[in-house]
Amino acid sequence: MSLVNNDEIVGRGNRDGAELFRNWFDNLNQTAANDGLAAYVFVMGSMAEILQVFDLPMVFPEINSLQTAVRRVAHEYLNEAEDIGYSPDICGYVKADVALQMRNGDHPMGKIPKPSLAVLTNACNTYIKWGEIWERMYQIPIFTLDVPGTRQGGLVTVAGDSSFENDKRYVKAQLKELITLCEEVTGKKFDVDRLREIQENTNRMNRSWKRVLELNRSRPSLFNALTDGTIYLGVFNGFRGLKEGAEYFEDLQEEMEYKAANEIGTLTDEKYRLAFAGVPCYPIFRRFNELFTDWGGTFVNSTYLWFASGGGNMGYEYDTSRPMESLAEGVLLSVRDAMDSMFHQNLALEAIIDSYDIDGVIFHPIKSCRTVSTGLADGRRALMATRDVSSLFIESDMMDRRVVSEAQLKNRIDAFFEGLAARKQREMSSV
Ligand code: SF4
Repeated sequence: MSLVNNDEIVGRGNRDGAELFRNWFDNLNQTAANDGLAAYVFVMGSMAEILQVFDLPMVFPEINSLQTAVRRVAHEYLNEAEDIGYSPDICGYVKADVALQMRNGDHPMGKIPKPSLAVLTNACNTYIKWGEIWERMYQIPIFTLDVPGTRQGGLVTVAGDSSFENDKRYVKAQLKELITLCEEVTGKKFDVDRLREIQENTNRMNRSWKRVLELNRSRPSLFNALTDGTIYLGVFNGFRGLKEGAEYFEDLQEEMEYKAANEIGTLTDEKYRLAFAGVPCYPIFRRFNELFTDWGGTFVNSTYLWFASGGGNMGYEYDTSRPMESLAEGVLLSVRDAMDSMFHQNLALEAIIDSYDIDGVIFHPIKSCRTVSTGLADGRRALMATRDVSSLFIESDMMDRRVVSEAQLKNRIDAFFEGLAARKQREMSSV
């Protein structure tokens, strides 16, 4: 890590993240222009470690789609997909991607290459149906990795348990099949030493990402899990296994250590520390966040930072002396953890509440992501039975501005903060 002055270090993660993100899209643009090979992948189990061995550029359709919402053009894409029969009810990310394919890859950040293969996991059932759309459009190979999930919330198996070892063998056999498929698609031989290098880069990223998340226990909190966190997630996924990704996360850790040591918070006057469950409201992303920060509320952690980093929050480190064994173990642990953060999100929130000094939890179910949203109401009830913390349940969407009502959101959020203020006052007067 380098020594830098204050002006350079504070905000560096956001600046460098935005630049890396632009570079990443520039590379995709170049790949599309050259009609190069590309792999379509997902954030929960991208299999970056294998794909990078074959130098396959990775396209994350989820990220492409959310970028159309952040850039306020998602409705154009959604309408085009709905015009050819895709229901308003299904995942908005899928529909934006379908329209993008119909536009021959035209995206606000450049041209997206067509897929040469797609790699899916079972972390979201939509992934599997989404892959079938590309299969029909392009007649490409689709590889679906089946990662065994936790059988019962909170009862996770660990290395050495017979059930864990069986699951690991099952994952490892599938990874070998993926390697064979990549050899066929690219015409390159698998290089295990290159895998080791990539794993080492991922280890550096995972180590720093875990530490960055922990550092936000600081008071005041150092970054906003919703806004800054989305930038970090973009780099985490797009640069997984690459040297640039490893350097970025080590620099980010340095920035956060510096901010913690100097008590530099993301807000000048932090009043309320919040946790977020669900997927953010991208059509009015900045404004959505302001509805909380205007009251002095900031998001210190979220289940989103856990599952959308594919379980990277665990900080798993590969043992490069047994690369394939360790790859299977890491994939099993981290994709399983990502699924747990969605399906048993009350347990993830309990862990966050217990260590981040949380005043309130915001549950944000969205119309077009059933996978994350379906269990949120039950999760909230379960959480309220085990933790004494305020919570708010607000609904909108991550893509579709037709179901985002800023006025309604504001009313509910304002009432929530008035309740939080009254609660704080009661607590202070009873001390
Ligand atoms: S349904 Fe939800 S988790 Fe699945 S792809 Fe869509 S946004 Fe992602």
